[in-house]
Amino acid sequence: MTAAALFEGVVHGRAAVQRRAIAKAITLLESTRAEHRAQADELLTALLPHTGTAFRLGISGTPGVGKSTFIEALGLHLIGLGHRVAVLAVDPSSSVSGGAILGDKTRMERLSVHEKAYIRPSPSSGTLGGVAEKTREAMLVCEAAGHDLLIVETVGVGQSELAVAGMTDMFVLMQLPHAGDELQAIKKGVMEWADLVLINKADTDPHAATQAQAQIRSSLRLPGQHGRPENARHGALWQPLVLQVSALQGQGVDRFCAAVAQFRALQTANGQLVARRERQALAWMWERIDAGLARAFREHPQVKSLLPRMQADVVAGRVAASTAARTLLLAQATTE
Ligand code: GDP
Repeated sequence: MTAAALFEGVVHGRAAVQRRAIAKAITLLESTRAEHRAQADELLTALLPHTGTAFRLGISGTPGVGKSTFIEALGLHLIGLGHRVAVLAVDPSSSVSGGAILGDKTRMERLSVHEKAYIRPSPSSGTLGGVAEKTREAMLVCEAAGHDLLIVETVGVGQSELAVAGMTDMFVLMQLPHAGDELQAIKKGVMEWADLVLINKADTDPHAATQAQAQIRSSLRLPGQHGRPENARHGALWQPLVLQVSALQGQGVDRFCAAVAQFRALQTANGQLVARRERQALAWMWERIDAGLARAFREHPQVKSLLPRMQADVVAGRVAASTAARTLLLAQATTE
């Protein structure tokens, strides 16, 4: 299918036709073949004017915290209000282990078959940067197809959370009532990125959930928060919220939706929504440039031939690491 035909199907297709076009478009974007990449870029450029109005919500939490249960409850609730929902995932482990986010029909059973929803598992292209790139592009496809809420899910491990925080308008961290001090300490770094923390499974232990809520609330008010990258151009800044929910019972979903609406209104009024997207787009461009340069550098013949000796010299302490880096960079630059 040509890029033009895919564009037609994604933007103007109806029901099953559109669904197939979305799947094909995402498959094209995920392809690593050079001729596909050119077509994919043509498609992205065409789709871009049809994007920008959807809200992008990131949801993170360790496996078992209840992400899919919550996303299903949230998705069905919003569809009931007339929205269209797309769920995408960033799970860099998926190529190695089959992944902690399955994204298949066994998860979100009702949402995945709903005609107003589109669910796509994590791409499995290896590096986090690669996986994140595909997910960002898939978001644009879903948005151009008319999905006005994009949910990007990730497991609570390592850098994938920051990648998702870096591609969404609002970043939500899911926790368990018994998370305790230990886990919260580990999560401290990520906590600073959270616009909202959800304590799920509140039904299992309401007392612990209330305690965890108070604990996390106070930790969010610590000075670390001042290090948040946004500074309001004008208007009030958002203060991160901590809410209790029971995804299984659908309790707290209303309250969560109200908080999202509040966040969106505030971030729109104070200029942060636009500022965050601008910052994300540029950071993303540079991240991809860096990745592309690094790849080209490693593949450069002169660098390739020098590298083993240089590495051995650095390891043996014969050449300083910085000197080796300069020598290799120079080798590439002078034999361009
Ligand atoms: P994920 O790995 O984060 O996507 O977690 P799942 O959504 O698959 O949920 C893991 C398990 O927790 C499942 O057995 C769910 O039924 C259960 N679960 C999810 N949310 C709740 C909740 O609010 N209360 C209770 N009691 N169980 C829940």
